[in-house]
Amino acid sequence: MPPTPTPPPEWPLPKFTLRVEDLAHPGAALFLAHVEPEAALRAAVLASFQWLYATPACAPTNVRAILLVLRPMDGVAYTSGSHTEKEIHLSLDHIVNSAARARAEILGVLVHEVVHCYQHNAKGTAPGGLIEGVADYVRLHAELAPPHWVRAVRAGDKWDAGYQTTAYFLDWVEAQAGAGTVRALNAALLDREYEEAVFARLGGAPVGELWRRYKVALGADGGPDEDEGFTLVPSYNPVYV
Ligand SMILES: [Zn+2]
Repeated sequence: MPPTPTPPPEWPLPKFTLRVEDLAHPGAALFLAHVEPEAALRAAVLASFQWLYATPACAPTNVRAILLVLRPMDGVAYTSGSHTEKEIHLSLDHIVNSAARARAEILGVLVHEVVHCYQHNAKGTAPGGLIEGVADYVRLHAELAPPHWVRAVRAGDKWDAGYQTTAYFLDWVEAQAGAGTVRALNAALLDREYEEAVFARLGGAPVGELWRRYKVALGADGGPDEDEGFTLVPSYNPVYV
């Protein structure tokens, strides 16, 4: 009789809590009409695990609980909290401003913020743009990129401009250097300070050279004059942290 296959280990899901600070706010009604909170948070955690960690054995287990707070505030969202207890604050006003596509926007922002709960950050020394780029890389791969995102670079953008600019760059690096490159990059940010050489080691060339090649691949000239040969895109770029 063949041995019973061992079931795959489970990803370490945290406890989820929801707090709505103003149920009379129209954003609260939109959220509750379009999103099932537990399923949305679970999907965001699983997307973070899937795109940052190859197996459950590699995934961090420190996050015990995620509290989602819906409240009126400026901006879109932010994540804070301790090593074990995370808080994601999501703006009810932003939900109203995104009413036409409330569900996709909420799910996309939740993925971005949940990535911040699980990604490594080189003990706080990784460039902020890289951290934000990884978060949007996962949002992109979760198929929750908002319609205004464009795979392009704006005049003067650097590789670590963050958000979708860096997300699409990381996506290109992964395509060039092989599947798992962004996971390896995230792993390289665990328990050690950031070194730009990580790109040369994992991506095959220094990050400046990779950025130049990426711009060429997009149809820009890739030359040293950062003000020429770029695709200009609309400046709408929501600020969330
Ligand atoms: Zn962020």
